[in-house]
Amino acid sequence: MTMRDTDRALVQAASAVAKLRCRSAAHTLATAARTAEGRVVSAVNVVHAAGGTCPERVALATAATQGVGELETIVTVGDRGRSLVAPCPACRELLADHFPTLRIIVGSPETPLVTPVTKLPNG
Ligand SMILES: [Zn+2]
Repeated sequence: MTMRDTDRALVQAASAVAKLRCRSAAHTLATAARTAEGRVVSAVNVVHAAGGTCPERVALATAATQGVGELETIVTVGDRGRSLVAPCPACRELLADHFPTLRIIVGSPETPLVTPVTKLPNG
């Protein structure tokens, strides 16, 4: 799938959240998700020995809390300038069940690419 200008903006949004909000060991990943209408929801993960949560899950819950409908595209970036991060297998399944047409931005920051959530390899 082709990267759009709005996809590049979404990567920038997630990177900005990571830079601003991922400043401790408790938060190491940031997600930004966009609706077809252009609304963006962002979230960070929660790291904890008793079981934290992925930023994709928090973004999905935030979208639901804010009454946001169908998510179209999502991207997760690591803190401290780390690369784009693909969702874990459990989140892939969760995202695909909730948003079967969701586009996911993966790859390196220099050469990101967009793939349908259903086409991400497992593991
Ligand atoms: Zn996950």
